[in-house]
Amino acid sequence: MVKPVIAIVGRPNVGKSTIFNRVVGERISIVEDVPGVTRDRIYSSGEWLAHEFNIIDTGGIDIGDEPFLEQIRQQAEVAMDEADVIIFLTNGREGVTPADEEVAKILYKTKKPVVLGVNKIDNPEMREQIYDFYALGFGEPIPISGSHGLGIGDLLDEAAKHFPKTNQAEYEADVIKFSLIGRPNVGKSSLVNAILGEERVIVSNIAGTTRDAIDSPYTYDGQKYSIIDTAGIRKKGKVYETTEKYSVLRALRAIERSDVVLVVISAEEGIIEQDKKIAGYAHEAGRAVVIVVNKWDAVEKDEKTMKEFEQRIREHFLFLDYAPIVFLSAKTKKRIHTLLPMINLASENHSMRVETSVLNDIIMDAVAMNPTPTDKGKRLKIYYTTQVSVKPPTFVVFVNEPELLHFSYERFLENRIRDAFGFEGTPIKIFARERK
Ligand code: GDP
Ligand code: GDP
Repeated sequence: MVKPVIAIVGRPNVGKSTIFNRVVGERISIVEDVPGVTRDRIYSSGEWLAHEFNIIDTGGIDIGDEPFLEQIRQQAEVAMDEADVIIFLTNGREGVTPADEEVAKILYKTKKPVVLGVNKIDNPEMREQIYDFYALGFGEPIPISGSHGLGIGDLLDEAAKHFPKTNQAEYEADVIKFSLIGRPNVGKSSLVNAILGEERVIVSNIAGTTRDAIDSPYTYDGQKYSIIDTAGIRKKGKVYETTEKYSVLRALRAIERSDVVLVVISAEEGIIEQDKKIAGYAHEAGRAVVIVVNKWDAVEKDEKTMKEFEQRIREHFLFLDYAPIVFLSAKTKKRIHTLLPMINLASENHSMRVETSVLNDIIMDAVAMNPTPTDKGKRLKIYYTTQVSVKPPTFVVFVNEPELLHFSYERFLENRIRDAFGFEGTPIKIFARERK
């Protein structure tokens, strides 16, 4: 299911991140009296009654050195690009300001529904303040108080009325959905072009819904694929598209809809901190991962170069030790043919189920080889292990006391499971449960 997306826009200090935190239900971004304070998270999921959605705090997208008005204009553009419903937030204590009018002017251009929230209405006596806001031209203003948690439900009710109606599973189960993530200029667009330009690729051209325009469905060797969020990879030019927060937002949205994530790095520029951060999102989301080293043509090579590069990747991406690495060049198309088989393999392993009896044999052998740990005189006992789900493969180990299954032993069991079944390209999860 594709969750609808709400974006909050408005000038600084009206309470966007306060509302975002309320809706998300954790205090994940930093709220300060200083406008424009660096925020950690700008994208998260939320729930209201029967609705699940994602929400973006556009105020957290820092548009470089642009002047103040340009910043909020760009943030409104992001909302119009990314959201299904826009919450336009204002401050009831200050009335309508020229900056609010500026935001309104941008939002008039969108066909997307806009819900107008008037924040900082902390008590019923203040409700009179909202009438001025009719002048903005977005219908009835909804009074709320982010800091007191008042009216948020009304605001979300109004937003939910405008959620898109069609929310069925968007692709058939036999389609492998993958996305390419990586910092700007590593060659993601070139790679998409190289893949789609291959002989024997049959590009499906389903016109119509927005989703189809965003993704690129195609068939190769009888296998159906869809490259998720291709438009987001290819289109370039808007100022905010080069900001890090926006790239991260785009990447998170693409990861969410993918089975397999290609983490693209550039052999020419090497690995930097931002690459690791982006790769971390794919891992945390539990998606299958293939590491793609692009621009392999631009590197001077001898017989050791690939091994050395691989080693460097393993050192930097310790958490992705299960991800296969593909070296290729989108430009010369050299080794491009090695990519799809890896995507297939990672996808297959991501949804692999193993036989319970074999699994338990493996675990018992592991325990025999390396006895379970003890803590304060108590020894971990493993009774039974079972795979409870796929995408990613998830295992539950029934034990006497879950706390006794320490990280290092869990890691040992994971390695035994991997040795026995493969699971290359996919993370696996292991949970301990107490046997009643
Ligand atoms: P943003 O820049 O739009 O994201 O605004 P923030 O969420 O950072 O809030 C700016 C300031 O307004 C902070 O000091 C908040 O504590 C304060 N604030 C947010 N919501 C309310 C509210 O409902 N009532 C009052 N009185 N203050 C609020
Ligand atoms: P994106 O921002 O990640 O989508 O990167 P682009 O696909 O726009 O590529 C950025 C730059 O790298 C462009 O100048 C490309 O021509 C160049 N580039 C992409 N792939 C390769 C490659 O395999 N080898 C070399 N030498 N350059 C490449």
